[in-house]
Amino acid sequence: LEPAYSFMIRTRTPGGVVTPEQWLKLDHIATTFAERGLRITTRQAFQFHGVIKTELKSTMQAINAALIDTLAACGDVNRNVAVSANPLQSRTHAAVYAHAAAVSEHLLPNTRAYYEIWLDEEQVAGSPDVSEPVYGETYLPRKFKIGFAIPPYNDVDVFAQDLGFIAVIDSDSVENDGVVGYNVVIGGGMGATHGDAETYPRLANVIGFIPVEALKDVATAVVTTQRDWGNREVRKRARLKYTIDDHGLDNFKAEVEKRAGIAFEPARPWVFEHNNDRFGWVQSDGNGGEDGRWHLTLALPAGRIVDNDTTDNGRVRHLSGLREIARLLQDSTLQEHGEGAEFRMTANQNLVIAGVPADKRKAVDALVAVYALDIHRSASPLQRDAIACVALPTCGLAMAEAERYLPELAAKIDALLAKHGLADAPINLRISGCPNGCSRPYLGEIALVGKAPGRYNLMLGADHRGQRLNTLHRENIDEAAILAELDSLFARYAGERRADEGFGDFIVRNDVVTYQHPSHYEVTP
Ligand code: SF4
Repeated sequence: LEPAYSFMIRTRTPGGVVTPEQWLKLDHIATTFAERGLRITTRQAFQFHGVIKTELKSTMQAINAALIDTLAACGDVNRNVAVSANPLQSRTHAAVYAHAAAVSEHLLPNTRAYYEIWLDEEQVAGSPDVSEPVYGETYLPRKFKIGFAIPPYNDVDVFAQDLGFIAVIDSDSVENDGVVGYNVVIGGGMGATHGDAETYPRLANVIGFIPVEALKDVATAVVTTQRDWGNREVRKRARLKYTIDDHGLDNFKAEVEKRAGIAFEPARPWVFEHNNDRFGWVQSDGNGGEDGRWHLTLALPAGRIVDNDTTDNGRVRHLSGLREIARLLQDSTLQEHGEGAEFRMTANQNLVIAGVPADKRKAVDALVAVYALDIHRSASPLQRDAIACVALPTCGLAMAEAERYLPELAAKIDALLAKHGLADAPINLRISGCPNGCSRPYLGEIALVGKAPGRYNLMLGADHRGQRLNTLHRENIDEAAILAELDSLFARYAGERRADEGFGDFIVRNDVVTYQHPSHYEVTP
């Protein structure tokens, strides 16, 4: 007998958008083939954990039957494209989403192997030559991540992406639904290795503005330059951020301009208010050319959607609740006309139920209440905005707990905040089980990066907009030391902060951490 292997499957869902029908199919897959329900990732994809080897193919085929695939959701290719979830700007959001989906399609590998292996398109080896104009024969040196942000929200953490596009919007413009073009950023990335100065998190550099028409050419040029220039000798130095640092930003930019056949214009101004989600109901403005429909953002702890998971607070039935909401919002006629409701996963592991017709709002609210999905109202700001990677027991790279530890840790930090009169302080907390940084911990105002069971590096001082990295404050400490450190810092913050000063900004202004990153890490609009 071979061991009982189990696998994780991750979907490719650009912008994290699925219809209610697709949601129901994914729910069925999760309850049929996977353990621990559905999980929303920090790249707006679903992960199914614990799919046993003998059911891999059935699971992949069921995903395909939901008109979703997993092609290039992992591997040394362009991964799931992340897109801001900004329902207030429905028209603009739809345009940016369409641009992102087009880039995602454009950068898919052409190989038929996926279809042959999983979808029974017969030949599984020795396929006829397939042209890969973007990836060539060797694909990329490492994974590649693209994100689209719609100011004023940086909810995709655009500066953490290998390649980011910041939408420049003129709401009076009818062309491209108000999207004038994009500021382009390159070279972001979170991953690092403990104790290895050759690896580091890095914020992307802004290299200029492009019109919408240049999007695909610029994306192709950045990806192919990384394909040709990236480090294939030392895998830990293979990400685009190191290619840029090794070759020089100006050289890389010049090569991209040459390959894309364009010259970047100076970047246009932008302002990001924060990098969190906006919870509760909002209505797109029916008087401003938008569609007047309603959108509800729900907080989902660490993106996990489960039933029958007992916690200290009792039984969780979020999977059932969202199933009922999907059934309520199923309307094939509206979907056909592009007017149906949608589920939009956010890059902060939350969920927007978008495009709800006014006459369905009350019914959605009732289901949210019955299934206790209104965490955004009951949780503290810290808990609501926190992000955790999956870590133990699922991720083989984990050195410490993250997702399972988050509720306990957040409650303890909340108690300290309350003690200092800071219960409502919107502080970004992020926790990762290892330095790979899947929860984008280096952009957390408070971040724990796993070192060993029960021990973490405490990182402090990121801003609230995803524009400044945090810095190592205390290394390899346990919970008692983490809480003691935060207790004394919260006391100072409560007494000495300026009006509207974020915790991370306070930490940096008071030199609690010495901000040592090179200047190109600091992004100034
Ligand atoms: Fe990612 Fe590391 Fe967390 Fe695993 S433990 S999910 S590799 S950050």
